[in-house]
Amino acid sequence: MSRIARFLKDGTVRYAQLQDADSLQPIAGDIFGSWHLTGETIPLNQVQLLAPVAPTNVIAIGLNYRAHAEESNMPLPERPVIFLKPTTAVCGPNDDIVLPQMAPDEVDYECELTIVIGKTARRVQEDDALDYALGYTCGHDVSARDCQLRLDAQWARGKSFDTFAPIGPWIETDMDPDNAPIRTRLNGEMMQESNTKDLIFSCRELISYLSHCMTLLPGTIIMTGTPSGVGFARKPPVFLRAGDVVEIEVEGIGVLRNRVVAESDSAA
Ligand code: ZN
Repeated sequence: MSRIARFLKDGTVRYAQLQDADSLQPIAGDIFGSWHLTGETIPLNQVQLLAPVAPTNVIAIGLNYRAHAEESNMPLPERPVIFLKPTTAVCGPNDDIVLPQMAPDEVDYECELTIVIGKTARRVQEDDALDYALGYTCGHDVSARDCQLRLDAQWARGKSFDTFAPIGPWIETDMDPDNAPIRTRLNGEMMQESNTKDLIFSCRELISYLSHCMTLLPGTIIMTGTPSGVGFARKPPVFLRAGDVVEIEVEGIGVLRNRVVAESDSAA
């Protein structure tokens, strides 16, 4: 098992490899090229973990679990449903999710296994596709449902507010992405629980398909879709409120935990 984190300490952003639960070893070089451990050891509680990558692109997949497509009253997709989130939406573990002032009322959670592309992929075959992944992290595709489903003709605004793409807490480079339990807890209560083996389009299929649409640069992340149990499909609906804590867990990676705040309460 190997875990790569990105952290801030003394005003400097660096990558590191987790050594154990309590410490990390900084990396020198380019995690998408050649790198080595510096030999230092830093206690985890002395750093601020950041989003484990500053993505070059954020690609997301809609309706990629059967039960979620059904709860959304949408037909099962015949090919991956692709959308993009802006890199400005990305935030890290422990960052706050900000309810946007222009659409604070129907903000919803979505847990997603998230692929981090490690080397340029263009027209790659499914058999080789996972070789292009550096690893995997937990992703949260936060969504303002009023914008996404009712007010706008498409999904861009509802998926794009600042802080609407938390990722982390680190990149796991050694795991089977096709069989990982995945869940969302809201204030400790289980809201989504599934397994990535239920993905309609697997990670290898997604990387190959997307690489035939566009060049996947190192650092591109792919949010692979969310299982059932999202807030808007519940009766009555459940939406995020200031003070909530959302935990996205992918077994084998870890837990991505973010607090929810109102825009008026945030430093931004
Ligand atoms: Zn999603």
